[in-house]
Amino acid sequence: MDCIFCKIIEGSIPSKKVFENERIVAFHDIQPAAPVHILIIPKKHIPTMNDVTAEDDALMAELFAVARQLAQELGIAESGYRLVNNVNSDGGQVVYHLHLHLLGGAKLKGLN
Ligand code: C5P
Repeated sequence: MDCIFCKIIEGSIPSKKVFENERIVAFHDIQPAAPVHILIIPKKHIPTMNDVTAEDDALMAELFAVARQLAQELGIAESGYRLVNNVNSDGGQVVYHLHLHLLGGAKLKGLN
């Protein structure tokens, strides 16, 4: 298997995990773009948002639920945060295993 996030899930590449259950893992991004920068990923290997199907509806809802929970736990819920999902080349996707970036802890620039 050649997916770096699948290797993080199985533990053969180390990561600083902040959440894990049977379906989802969340860990600190190794190159943080904000004071809080967490990646939230499904254990199921889904390359991009384009590959999500109706079968994944519950999983996608849970991904957002974990993001909400982590924002609370990490103390950024009230000040605010951003959830980002990069898709393919124009979206700036580098790792082809679906992930949400949870960014916060500072006033974020751009997009508005
Ligand atoms: O959305 P995109 O694919 O560009 O983001 C991939 C993210 O995965 C980057 O922010 C990168 O720093 C992170 N990464 C990581 N640990 C790795 C490899 C990449 O946190 N071992």
